[in-house]
Formats: sequence, C-alpha cells, structure tokens
Amino acid sequence: MTPSNTDLSTASSWHRRAMDIKLDGRALVNGQRVDAVTGETFECRSPIDGRLLAQVSRGQAVDIDLAVAAARRSFDSGVWSRQAPAVRKRVLQRFAELILQHKDELALLETLDMGKPIQSSLDADVPGAARCIAWYAEAIDKVYDEIAPTPANSLALIQREPVGVVGAIVPWNYPMLMSAWKLGPALATGNSIVLKPSEKSPLTAMRLAELALQAGLPEGVFNVVPGHGDEAGEALALHMDVDALGFTGSTRVGRKMLAYSGRSNLKRVFNELGGKSAFIVFDDFDDLDRAAQTVAGAVFYNQGESCNAPTRLLVHESIADVLVAAVTGQTTRFQPGDPLSPSTNMGALVDEAQMESVLGYIASGQQQGANCVIGGHRVRQESGGYYVEPTIFDHVRNDMKIAQDEIFGPVLSVIRFKDEAEAVALANDSSYGLQASVWTQHLDRAHRVARHLRAGTVHVNQYDEDDMTVPFGGVKQSGNGRDKSLHALDKYTDLKTTWIRLER
Ligand code: NAD
Repeated sequence: MTPSNTDLSTASSWHRRAMDIKLDGRALVNGQRVDAVTGETFECRSPIDGRLLAQVSRGQAVDIDLAVAAARRSFDSGVWSRQAPAVRKRVLQRFAELILQHKDELALLETLDMGKPIQSSLDADVPGAARCIAWYAEAIDKVYDEIAPTPANSLALIQREPVGVVGAIVPWNYPMLMSAWKLGPALATGNSIVLKPSEKSPLTAMRLAELALQAGLPEGVFNVVPGHGDEAGEALALHMDVDALGFTGSTRVGRKMLAYSGRSNLKRVFNELGGKSAFIVFDDFDDLDRAAQTVAGAVFYNQGESCNAPTRLLVHESIADVLVAAVTGQTTRFQPGDPLSPSTNMGALVDEAQMESVLGYIASGQQQGANCVIGGHRVRQESGGYYVEPTIFDHVRNDMKIAQDEIFGPVLSVIRFKDEAEAVALANDSSYGLQASVWTQHLDRAHRVARHLRAGTVHVNQYDEDDMTVPFGGVKQSGNGRDKSLHALDKYTDLKTTWIRLER
C-alpha cells in the first residue's frame, strides 16, 4: 500500500512508485499463490513503454482442474454457499473497503498493465470495482424469495440457490471492473469462482483475490488462473464441473463459449460481447457543442477501447459539417500522453497487436474512400509504447469495414442521413446491438426512435449516465447477458421449487 504521505500528484512520482512496486504473477488457487503446474510462465509487458513487468503463470488445463476442484470443495462444504446473506454481506463490504484502501496500488497496476491513464484508473476503475462489490453486498440481504399463489391445500416455495462453480473469463479493457461485475453478484449469491483474466492484463485480478482473502472470504471460493485464452480459457469453458460461465469479450470468442458449453456439460453461458453503437444527432437538436463533447468523450475515453463506445456518429446532413468541425475540435482534449501523468487523458493501446489492428482499420477506411478529417497515425513511438491519435472519418458509408467492425481504438466514423427512417435503418444495420444514443428536442421523436432501435441501452440527449442500479448488456451479437443491477443475480442463481402438501 502507498504510505498516505507519499505525493502522487506528478508523473515522476508515479514513475518512481512504478519502479518500486512488487509484482507477483503467480496464480491464486485455494487461498495460495502458486506457480503453474508445468512451471511455465508468459511475459507481461507494459504497453506504456514495452518494459517487462512480470513473468505470469501460464495456466493450462491441469491448473484449471485444480482451481475448479478447490472451488467445488469450498462450495460443497457450505463455508460460503450456506452462510447467511448478512455474513456474506459483511465480508464483501470489507472486500470493497480494502479495494479502496489499496486504490493507489491497484490503479498503478491497472495502468501499467493495460495503458490507460492513471487518473482514469484512480477515478473510475478502482472506485467502480469497489462500488460494484459493495452494491451487491448491500443488496444481498434484501432479496426475498417467493411463495406461489397455489391452491389452499399446498404450499410452493420458489427459492434462489447459487448455481455452484462459476467460471468467469474477462477482457483486458477494464480488467478490474469487468472482474467485479462478475464477482459481485456471483459471490453475493454464494457461488465459488474461478476467474481467468486476459493474458494482456492479468495483474489486478490476482491482487483482488488476495484482498478478498484478507477480507475473510474463505479459501477456495475465489480462485484466479491467468493464462492464454486457448489454453486456460478453453479448459475453463469446457470443464465438466463448471456450472455457469460469465464471459465478457469479443463476439468471435463468445461464439466459442456457446460451442464449449454444447461440447461439455451444457453449462449456462452469459455472453457480454462487442459493440458498434450509433450516436444519432437530428437537425432539431440545438446544442451541437454538447453533443460533440459527449460523443468525443465517449469514443476516445479509454483510448477507444470500450465495448459501448458510440463509434458510429449518424448525423443529419444539414448539420453534419458543423457537428464534424465541433467533434474535430474536441480531439485536442484527447492527445495521447504518458499514462502515468495525472494530466493525461488518453493513454496507450493495450499492445502492439491491438495497435496494428487499429492502424489496419484506419488504412482500410482510407482505401474504401472515407475522408480522414483528423488523426490516423501512431504517435509517441520513441516511448517504446503503442499510441494512436484520435481519428475521425467523415463521409463513411455504413457498409464500409470501419462502420461495421468493432475497431476497439480511437476511431470515429461519421455517417450522414437524410431523415428519421434512414437514421433508424442505418443504426440497426449492424450485427451488434449494445447501446445507442438519440439527440433531439422532440419527446415524441426521442421515444419513437428509442423504441425502434435494437440495442440493450438507449440514451437520449446524453451518453455518459451509468449506475450500478441499471443492467448493462446487449442484444443481437452483442450478447445475451446482463451485468450490474439486481438482474445480474439471475445469472448466478437457479430457481428451486419446493412443494409442500398441507392436508393429510
Ligand atoms: P477476447 O474475446 O479476445 O478475450 C476475452 C477473454 O477471453 C480473454 O480472457 C481471453 O484470454 C479469453 N479467450 C480468448 N480466446 C479464448 C478461447 N478460445 N477460449 C476461452 N477463452 C478465450 O476479447 P478482448 O480482446 O480481451 O476484449 C475486447 C472485447 O471485449 C471487445 O469485443 C469488447 O467489446 C468486449 N467487451 C464487452 C463488454 C460488454 O460488457 N459487453 C465489456 C468489455 C469488453
């Protein structure tokens, strides 16, 4: 933990702290830090400057077997699964408090590991993860079961039970937050967990598991096995003793999750997948500066590596030039800088492969005839890290690759429309359906368009509202699950009906 008197207000103080931080890349199974059974490791490098951060255990099927066995033993013992909700609540509240007490350390780990600005890690990722755990802790002793309205001669109880062993597989873009979105509801409802973090950002997951132990979570309830997707990830998803799979990641891998389930024990699969969200601005909306500020903030935040980034800006042709100029002006707020500097608000892309993929999409936009208004280049190459400047394409057609594929980098595609019907048709012409946004002064239009948009969430005249109380998830190939809110409890519980005869 950072001593409270340590000054962390400058880039150099964060760099000094980064040099001192102790990194432990070992898995955490059954309450113990362990090497992979094979002894193999993989390199974890920082996208900030390419430096080696740690050697991380390269978990494989044998490690997953051990972790799932530990999770099963802890579940069957009842040490957590049969605890009173109020007891689970106290442990999870302590867990959330410990996350906040270790805010500086966790934020630094997250930033070093995946390249996001330190201020985002401090202001959003760490407190967001703590809030999620605390929210489910607070909720769990307020959720009641049901008695069905059956005839008078019988009683039917409908009770939630934990499903058992949950496999959680998460991506690298919000490593701690996505883990917390699985851990909160799954642990609160009494399950045991095996978490497989992304090989691109494994470090905070293991620290979270240590803090959970420190908070009093029994050994074996929360295990972390780092490793590659096609090794540890596949083994976890195929495991015959995993009862449910909470997956957040790409649509490509989400498809595999469903296949793994079919090939193994038909475990339930909840997929939270990619997006290509539409941000629709009508000509009756009069505050284009606010719309420009909002879309830029949402697209370029986290270097554009957000599933719900509104990367398609659909704008009425009569206001398009003005809006594009305003959004272009906003890019000055998002110049890539040193992620460890508190004043930086755009950091590094997660690794070289991701940067090359983003640059490839930029090249495809140019080849297909879109007009690159600003950006398009790698910057800060001398740092040894992977940075791409905010990029805006105008005059994009919705059938271009940059309009259809999830780029997962700081690239905005502007598509012009003539009328409301065309705007809705363009917005829905996507294999994804995560979020959308409608900007209009007219209430009837707002409701009408929101109703016709195929998306899990529709925003009206804003994009940035978010809260633990509301579900997060998509339709179509953006997935089927819902994280956050009380609805997430459904993923990690089974309904048990018990009939009792009341008359002899
Ligand atoms: P990814 O699908 O490549 O990897 C996600 C996780 O799956 C990683 O832990 C990876 O190791 C694992 N994995 C990869 N191949 C696997 C396999 N064959 N078997 C089992 N596991 C495997 O995704 P990513 O690049 O880490 O993350 C970016 C994606 O995540 C984007 O598409 C983004 O939209 C999506 N995402 C969605 C949400 C949401 O809530 N809908 C939130 C964040 C990110």
